[in-house]
Amino acid sequence: MRLHSRLALVFTLVATTVVAQTKVTPPKNKYTPEQDVKIGREAAAEVRQQYPIITDDQIEGYLERLGDRLVSAAPAEFKRPQFEYSFTPVNLKDINAFALPGGPMFVNRGMIEAATGEGEVAGVMAHELAHVLLRHGTANATKAQGFQIGALAGAIAGAVVGGGLGQVISQGSQFGLGTWLMKYSREYEKQADLVGAQIMARAGYDPRELARMFETIQKQGGGSPPQWLSSHPNPGNRTQYITQEAAQLQIGPRPDDSGFTRTRSRFASLAPARTMTDLERNAGKNGGGNGESNRAPVAVGRVGDPVPPPARQYRTVQGGQLFQVSVPSNWTELASNTFVKYVPQNAYGQSGGQEVMTHGVELGVTRASSRDLRQATDALVEGFVRSNQDMRVAGEQRSVQLSGRTAILTPLEGRSVLGGVEHVDVYTTLLADGNLFYHLAVAPDRDIDEYSVAFNRVARSIRINDR
Ligand SMILES: [Zn+2]
Repeated sequence: MRLHSRLALVFTLVATTVVAQTKVTPPKNKYTPEQDVKIGREAAAEVRQQYPIITDDQIEGYLERLGDRLVSAAPAEFKRPQFEYSFTPVNLKDINAFALPGGPMFVNRGMIEAATGEGEVAGVMAHELAHVLLRHGTANATKAQGFQIGALAGAIAGAVVGGGLGQVISQGSQFGLGTWLMKYSREYEKQADLVGAQIMARAGYDPRELARMFETIQKQGGGSPPQWLSSHPNPGNRTQYITQEAAQLQIGPRPDDSGFTRTRSRFASLAPARTMTDLERNAGKNGGGNGESNRAPVAVGRVGDPVPPPARQYRTVQGGQLFQVSVPSNWTELASNTFVKYVPQNAYGQSGGQEVMTHGVELGVTRASSRDLRQATDALVEGFVRSNQDMRVAGEQRSVQLSGRTAILTPLEGRSVLGGVEHVDVYTTLLADGNLFYHLAVAPDRDIDEYSVAFNRVARSIRINDR
């Protein structure tokens, strides 16, 4: 009899937990869990090379134990035997943590220092773990077209290493998708919050500490929101629905959290934490934060020497997975973090101590200052005008089509280093991820007739794939 009643009690408890928690269905995904692992492993290797990883037995051990506890508390239906979880501390001040497909997770020292207790750190980690379990990274890629694994790993590494939005890598193949991949939709955010709350409860933490950590992160923002919030947007009523979910969950026995305080005092023995901004700045100096960026040659021929007319022959080139464009076959490609240029011989190089492009086109992605195309365009143009002496808007902006979508054409004029007036046409259109795609074409007035034919053809050939 005694055994029986005990069984009945156990049964009731289990039934309550299962029925009460919100059911979450992982989004559509055309990748296999093995592919998640491969992509995450490659991106993690890149991160380990570029980030100041903390090597300290005590801190590493603490994070690992905390992570393992969360993994054991993860819902069985989402667990994948293939996944390779790891929890790596990073000596960065920024309040951030991120997880890559298949399991690797990185937690900044700044995140642990901003938390008021272990429960808050566990909250952010549980949320990140939920993204891994629900396979949101590759689900994002599933929404994009024609993706290749190598490109995806590179894009994820680029997004992570490159830091904030607008830092997009090209590396020849994955142009523009980095930030898009690492930015979760509001729907995915809510899923990660709910599954994260469920994991926390089972691991012995009050899920409301997750909500509290979000508030802490928000407050730390100051002028600009912390990076974590730009890739994990608030779906709205975050605190409210987490609190509601918490009320329905059974919280397991509270674990020993003395490691939290020990870890925090241990930080004092490390080198001072750096910031993402330091990291990016140094990466720029050393010729490549993500390995490949900033390696564009400083010149294509010599500025001032004759520039040949555009070839009649065109070649089609890929801007990673984001766009394709046809350019005259005698133009050279120059790729950088956020843009790619195609320039004729002698049209790009140093002049008067500055980098100049006298003829050619540039296609790029930048952070849109507004969701309104007109406003975002104006902000971009203002930036051009401010950074180029003698540059000014020369005529009416026009509504045009670019790759079958609404775009704005802004005509600018400046002074060419070759003498006389130069014309710069700027095309802008918003991308699905909220970033601004731009295409600009520049040529001096004396060559404009010859070049405008080519420019029109180039603009018409642009195909953007961001959905
Ligand atoms: Zn998230």
